[in-house]
Amino acid sequence: MPTHDVVLCTDLDRTVIPNGDQPESPEARPLLRRFAAHPESTLVYVSGRDRGLLQDAIRDYDLPVPDYAIGDVGTTIYRVQGGRWQTLDAWSREIAPDWQGRDRTDLAELLRDIDGLRLQEDEKQNDFKLSYYGPENTRPDALVDEVRRRLEAEGIRASLIWSIDEQAHCGLLDVLPASANKRHAIGFLMRERGFADRQTVFAGDSGNDLEVLVSGMQAVLVRNAPAEVREEAERRVAEAGHAERLYLARGGFLGMNGNYSAGVLEGLAHFLPHIREWLAP
Ligand SMILES: [Mg+2]
Repeated sequence: MPTHDVVLCTDLDRTVIPNGDQPESPEARPLLRRFAAHPESTLVYVSGRDRGLLQDAIRDYDLPVPDYAIGDVGTTIYRVQGGRWQTLDAWSREIAPDWQGRDRTDLAELLRDIDGLRLQEDEKQNDFKLSYYGPENTRPDALVDEVRRRLEAEGIRASLIWSIDEQAHCGLLDVLPASANKRHAIGFLMRERGFADRQTVFAGDSGNDLEVLVSGMQAVLVRNAPAEVREEAERRVAEAGHAERLYLARGGFLGMNGNYSAGVLEGLAHFLPHIREWLAP
């Protein structure tokens, strides 16, 4: 018998961490901590952050320590037990075939002389995440095409994720195994640990959560999500025929405003009403 009665998989930034423009209800994080302290809850963080930045967030925002964490944009799954963070090797074995047995140093060698790409610091890399800085102001298409062409020539299946770091004024390129995404990592953890669909809920706020939000998992979009993310998520679940699997937080749950952790708990209670009892004082 699985003991994990409710499994919450949640994004961190602007989902349980109130680091956006909207206000946070003061009770929201204390109630999230109460949920996480319940013996039948399992908490999984799903984030682009690496282990160091995940631990910083937990300390700086007084977040509950999770049971598992999917970090590094889906390339690493940690099991957290007694303060120790252990990598789940089975996940590494699951995604390794995409790179044909090569690791990120091998891939870096293939891309070594591409103009405009500069390797990020060691702590931002792992075996299955190769990360570069790039130019901020050029369109990245030609650069990304060149990277894709070189990897494909070696039979390497990679996803290439380009983003802009507005504060640092540079582009960022992550090269990941094609199958190492948040949705696949969550599904893998669910199979591995025997978490059932009906007991598992995902929560997120932004474009990089969309693939999970619209996947047919029970999912919650917090109220502080940007309007365009809400519209796209609604449209895609409607097209897929499972609109009822996505809950849009609207506020009002236990007198809270539906932003951040308040929205996460509101959505959890929508799918699994008995957690209300866990939150009672
Ligand atoms: Mg977020």
